[in-house]
Amino acid sequence: MKKNPNPLEPIAFLLETISPLTRLQILLAIGTGEACVCHLEAALGLRQAYISQHLMALRKAELLLDRREGRYIFYRLKDPSLLDLITASATLSGISAEAVSTLINRASPSCECPQCALVSISTESLETA
Ligand SMILES: [Zn+2]
Repeated sequence: MKKNPNPLEPIAFLLETISPLTRLQILLAIGTGEACVCHLEAALGLRQAYISQHLMALRKAELLLDRREGRYIFYRLKDPSLLDLITASATLSGISAEAVSTLINRASPSCECPQCALVSISTESLETA
């Protein structure tokens, strides 16, 4: 006979899934927007294969949604309240919510994805204005 699962199991699974440092970094870097693997590679300074592996785990746990556009696949959070959970965890760990917010939606100057290109174009036009 199969044992009844503990009703708290989904919580344990969620926390376990997001707990690796790289996954926390990925989730924050995606933030409230979308990010492709090449963006995460540039923003986090980690190898693409390594990031893909973590993205796959997050997607399998149904924490991420993806969308294909041309040669890019963009990942976004299925439920952005995940960021509130991470921010609350940060506060409990003695890290300020402001410190966490600087890690959310980071654009990277070394990234060539369409979204970072938009950011750098708008920055350039501000500088030349
Ligand atoms: Zn980018």
